[in-house]
Amino acid sequence: MAQQQTAKYVYDFEEGNKDLKDLLGGKGANLAEMTNLGLPVPPGFTITTEACRAYLADGTEPDGLADEVGEHLRALEAKMGKRLGDSEDPLLVSVRSGAKFSMPGMMETVLNVGLTDASVHGLANQAGGNERFAWDSYRRLIQMFGKTVCEVPGEAFESALEAAKRAKNTHNDLDLDGNDLRALVDEYKKIFSQHTGRDFPQDPREQLDLAVHAVFDSWNADRAVLYRRQERIPADLGTAVNVVAMVFGNLGADSGTGVAFTRDPATGEQGVYGDYLANAQGEDVVAGIRNTVPLQELERIDKASFEQLIQIMATLEGHYQDLCDIEFTIERGKLWMLQTRVGKRTAAAAFVIATQLVDEGVIDLDEALNRVNGAQLAQLMFPTFATDGDHKPVARGVAASPGAAVGKAVFDSHYAAELGEQGEKVILVRRETNPDDLPGMIAAQGVLTSRGGKTSHAAVVARGMGKTCVCGAEALEVDLEGRKFTVNGQTISEGDVISIDGTSGKIYLGEVPVQDSPVVRYFEGETGPESDPLVSAVHRIITHADSVRRLGVWTNADTGEDAARARRFGAQGIGLCRTEHMFLGDRRELVERLILAETEADRQAALDALLPLQRADFLEIFRAMKGQPVVVRLIDPPLHEFLPGLEDLAAKVAVAEALHKDPGKDGVMLVAVRRMHEQNPMLGLRGVRLGLVIPGLFAMQIRAIAEAAAQCRQEGCDPRPEIMVPLVGAVQELETVRAEAEKVLRDVFDKAGVEVPVMIGTMIELPRAALNAGQIAQAAEFFSFGTNDLTQMTWGFSRDDVEAAFFSRYLELGIFGVSPFESIDRDGVGRLVQIAVKEGRAARPDLQLGVCGEHGGDPDSVHFFHEAGLDYVSCSPFRVPVARLEAGRAAVASGGSDSR
Ligand code: ADP
Ligand code: MG
Ligand code: MG
Repeated sequence: MAQQQTAKYVYDFEEGNKDLKDLLGGKGANLAEMTNLGLPVPPGFTITTEACRAYLADGTEPDGLADEVGEHLRALEAKMGKRLGDSEDPLLVSVRSGAKFSMPGMMETVLNVGLTDASVHGLANQAGGNERFAWDSYRRLIQMFGKTVCEVPGEAFESALEAAKRAKNTHNDLDLDGNDLRALVDEYKKIFSQHTGRDFPQDPREQLDLAVHAVFDSWNADRAVLYRRQERIPADLGTAVNVVAMVFGNLGADSGTGVAFTRDPATGEQGVYGDYLANAQGEDVVAGIRNTVPLQELERIDKASFEQLIQIMATLEGHYQDLCDIEFTIERGKLWMLQTRVGKRTAAAAFVIATQLVDEGVIDLDEALNRVNGAQLAQLMFPTFATDGDHKPVARGVAASPGAAVGKAVFDSHYAAELGEQGEKVILVRRETNPDDLPGMIAAQGVLTSRGGKTSHAAVVARGMGKTCVCGAEALEVDLEGRKFTVNGQTISEGDVISIDGTSGKIYLGEVPVQDSPVVRYFEGETGPESDPLVSAVHRIITHADSVRRLGVWTNADTGEDAARARRFGAQGIGLCRTEHMFLGDRRELVERLILAETEADRQAALDALLPLQRADFLEIFRAMKGQPVVVRLIDPPLHEFLPGLEDLAAKVAVAEALHKDPGKDGVMLVAVRRMHEQNPMLGLRGVRLGLVIPGLFAMQIRAIAEAAAQCRQEGCDPRPEIMVPLVGAVQELETVRAEAEKVLRDVFDKAGVEVPVMIGTMIELPRAALNAGQIAQAAEFFSFGTNDLTQMTWGFSRDDVEAAFFSRYLELGIFGVSPFESIDRDGVGRLVQIAVKEGRAARPDLQLGVCGEHGGDPDSVHFFHEAGLDYVSCSPFRVPVARLEAGRAAVASGGSDSR
């Protein structure tokens, strides 16, 4: 063995193991693992991803690779007692791709490498004169090699095969005999030279080398590039190549090939799940060339192999401690394992399987928690279509943003917005979307496009809005002019109802009934944990997560109703109660009075009128959250947001003036709106700045909080209000508000004769606040990271402007792996959080630390906040279970249940 060589590019199966996926790819690593478990795997070797990367970088094989392959090939020949492509007794091999992450159907495999005009006779002789088998194998090689290595269009071979079957008046390839297949090989060779300008290569080693190069190259095939981009698989990993001695399932009725799962991948039930096809080679099973039989039937066909297979499946499950999927072949009654891996599964099956494995004593609950994730739980909480009946999808696109949406197809954004305003349910259908489509996307139930993948504009923006989206449905011909689309010969015009499933990517014509998720019904308390296996699995795993997590999970809620729901979902407090919505609706008028007040008395009158309304809101929330903290944020947005828009108002006044009418109140309002207009409202008069500029505004809100708390206490419930000051950048801002707040609280509680402890703290949402956390903590009993604003302020962009304008481009270019609004930017925003945690705690050891904003419900971000040492995350009610689960997973990942 060439152990002195600098790079080692080739590993025999005996040399690898399942943990070498980076180097050997998933398939190679698991073939090695099975080999070392003593399972019957045909011998072979793996050419590493490193060799692939070198080949792709230089456009040619790295030095020494050819020799190394030669050595391992000779060892393989010695093991098999045959030589590659030998004319008397040929060794044949398969050349199989296999990257670190499985990319189903994306890359290439060539079977039967080593067959030539000469060795085909040797193969027939060795198979006891089985001409049919030898010629069938040869025609498969020419077909796969032609397609994969030389880009001969697959249809050319397929139509020749069809013609051969037609001539025999059959649909079944088994009816073609040796002579037919020999003629077909001649036909295939002609097709090959027509398309490539050369004869089919007759040198076995040349076949092998060309096939290896083709597998390398398939890493960069368009569809593979696209797939990786969609699945966020790094582009620079490369694929390994596995060279495996061929075993033959097409030797006759006592041979065959199949696929199996060690348990049902949809439900997790134990049993025999799979398909078997007699007298066939591997790719026939998936290609659907003939009808397969359920794997159970193998028991009847070949009992010994069946029993061995069952035993091997048990071995694999025991070894991987998880559901595995398997490819196998039986050659004349001898079973061979060709592939295994930990199997993909649905979100529901992930939960069920994890708890089953616990019950079987295979894994513990910590590991069960590790086997599921928040994204899967979130998926299980969306409503779904009830499609058992007669609804068949007409097409399928990319599942870009989950949910089940039903509405009228509408082809332009303005019309969608118009219908939306009238309360109609619409689906916005476009070829692709752009920033002009935003109003329509907001109004629509869902978005459907015929182009683009998971990072397209439609996908990014829809996910940001939590809106259902199916994109890149290429079967759709969208005719925007004609306001219709056609799909599989059917035409859908504007106004026709369609249904789209953002979880599966399926598109249906007409209205498909929507059903609530059973998991949500369980969280709502409408069904017990034993109602079905999925619900019971979720219950067990989330209960365990609760018992191990260190992070508290709070919620963002502005109404008693939201608060109550979040509590049912497991929230332990309100981390963000926004007060601005309390200024909307019929209260807008009071706010206008406040803003337009010309005298002190006018302003105070407006505030006095708002006070009881706010008090009633708080009371409702404190009652719903009795015994749990409620962080109330003082008013944050710029006040002009409560006034009519400048353009509308200016137009109204201009019309009145043109008609020589008195614009009346509109005229006064216009002056105020002009005066308050800001170029950059996000950076303007908002947050704490409002409180310092408008006398009495914060005091009114604080009084409402205190009075509600006092009343709540008098009713015998236990209010835990916390007052949160937004957008603080300097400790002096907070000190000023705190002094005012303490006065108001004293006054209210003295008058009421009760004492309610009220914490006063601040949001950390400006970089300056994070960098001055030590000072700010002197005046703050708690910090709550407002990571939405902190992200905007750190990056210097506003979410509303950038998501539509350039985020999809940034994602495409890989500048963002994922939107920083979806998942916290650890390197920038995250660093600020770490600084603030450290300096804040140093200044005040009992400082309470939390995060509000949607990052609090994002799985990756929850792990970050756990590591950063926060006390709680707060997120929207619907994300609360996701955050509970992920907080538990984070605790397990950072040292298990004992670390509490
Ligand atoms: P994919 O990743 O698309 O499944 P594979 O490399 O697994 O591609 O191979 C395609 C098919 O060929 C599979 O059914 C596999 O079992 C079969 N196959 C691969 N290598 C061999 C071999 N050495 N002998 C027999 N069948 C093989
Ligand atoms: Mg396979
Ligand atoms: Mg903010």
